[in-house]
Amino acid sequence: MTDRFDVIVIGAGPAGYHAAIRCAQLGMSTACIDKSLDDAGQPVLGGTCLNWGCIPSKALLDASHKYVEATTGFADLGIRASGITMDVPAMMARKAQVVKGLTGGVAQLFQGNGVTALPGSGKLLAGRQVEYTPHAGAPRTLQADHVILAPGSVPVQIPPAPLTDGLIVDSQGALEFQSVPKRLGVIGAGVIGLELGSVWSRLGAEVVVLEALDEFLPMADERIARDALKILRGQGLDVRLGARVTGSEVRGSGDARTVEVTYQDKSGEQRVEFDRLIVAVGRRPFTNGLLAPDCGVILDERGFLHVNDHCLTDAPHVYAVGDVVRGPMLAHKAMEEGVMVAERIAGKKPLVNYDTVPAVIYTHPEIAWVGRTEQQLKASGDAYNVGTFPFSVNGRALAAHDTQGMVKVLADAETDRILGVHILGAQASELIAQAVIAMEFDASAEDLGLTMFAHPTLSEALHEAALGVAGHAIHMVNRKKRT
Ligand code: FAD
Ligand code: AMP
Repeated sequence: MTDRFDVIVIGAGPAGYHAAIRCAQLGMSTACIDKSLDDAGQPVLGGTCLNWGCIPSKALLDASHKYVEATTGFADLGIRASGITMDVPAMMARKAQVVKGLTGGVAQLFQGNGVTALPGSGKLLAGRQVEYTPHAGAPRTLQADHVILAPGSVPVQIPPAPLTDGLIVDSQGALEFQSVPKRLGVIGAGVIGLELGSVWSRLGAEVVVLEALDEFLPMADERIARDALKILRGQGLDVRLGARVTGSEVRGSGDARTVEVTYQDKSGEQRVEFDRLIVAVGRRPFTNGLLAPDCGVILDERGFLHVNDHCLTDAPHVYAVGDVVRGPMLAHKAMEEGVMVAERIAGKKPLVNYDTVPAVIYTHPEIAWVGRTEQQLKASGDAYNVGTFPFSVNGRALAAHDTQGMVKVLADAETDRILGVHILGAQASELIAQAVIAMEFDASAEDLGLTMFAHPTLSEALHEAALGVAGHAIHMVNRKKRT
């Protein structure tokens, strides 16, 4: 094997594998080093997203949602179903199949594009050299013209709740339960905590979510967050805000183990006992063993690799992309950075537009947004107009018996340019793409209003909300304003 490549990528998660494939498409000799192993101890591509993140969590969210539909939603549609049960090991086996198919797909894409996959660890040395240590074997020094660092992130652990095999778990462990816990605790009401809490709550667990902050989803639009909290609590998620976990104690032994969690809220110290506990308090950049002291790459004060707007680190020809650099820890942001860097290495001049990164929480209803929230606009003193439209009067939502939530469009008061779109509703993850496209093309709310949407569709709620910015949504009476 050659020890010289045009590009060496470290990490084959969404950031790294997109970068590697694009580099190869652009004619560069490319190697991608990744150290992940699957349950059987075999090298696996795809990183957190495909193996322990986006994909397995969505497989469980979709399965558990269908279970809820079948057990409680079908009757309203005239479908009489009885004897429905959940086979958790079968659900897990299907999830594993989905993951296997997709990670195998990345391996095929590497092969088809001529990317050399190097299973093992990579370490950046000085002078664009990379030390590659295979899973079994001695380290070798490789040389590259350009290096792309994409080592991703790992779950944050907190001293009050140290991981305890199978009992106190992180997000990865929570995707592996083989039975439904009776009482499940979740520390952290962030995206991951809410998604995993929803899965197990839908399957019958009594779920308590302990969140240190007083505010629910502070990064989302306040109105959407408020409505979402009400709906999720209505589904049975016991979300306790202002509840900071301060300790945990394992009780009993073997299968009878439980964990007593201590938390502080405004009334003082509280205790609650669980059969399992998920710690979902965020993720941190993963740089263990990645950098030789003289490699020239600098970490910022929060432990992220320091990069400029084009993902170039402080070392010439060394880039960093994905969760390990500033910005939201999201797979699609990671992918776009990977592609941007590959193209910049090839002499093209693409940019990532960080103003239009969509965010999605895959609860039901889903929560999705892009751009600025109403509270951000208020805080910055920008003048804006708002259009909202509820799914409760959207024909397709009514036909589908899925009417919770709303669409909210925020537009500049002077230019009408769309500043933010916030959706709580079924398929919000799909609908938000329309808003992203509109904002990417600098659309005004009027532009969206003048666009024809198929009827009947959920997308019509976005159309109506955009019309509502100027006060003339058709299916909603607005006496205040007509333009
Ligand atoms: P990663 O996917 O973490 O990949 C990094 C890879 O590099 C890993 O395989 C790692 O083993 C390898 N590596 C690290 N260091 C080295 C080294 N020195 N040598 C060799 N290999 C190395 N995001 C979304 O956008 N949508 C979602 O729905 C979503 N759901 C999620 C659900 C869960 C439960 C979790 C945990 C995350 C979720 N995310 C989601 C976040 C998403 O997974 C990450 O943003 C994404 O994986 C980041 O991609 P990355 O390539 O930067 O890093
Ligand atoms: P995210 O970063 O979106 O994954 O969300 C993680 C959440 O965990 C944040 O909202 C934090 O406030 C919350 N959190 C962190 N530490 C604790 C703790 N000790 N007790 C309760 N919640 C916590």
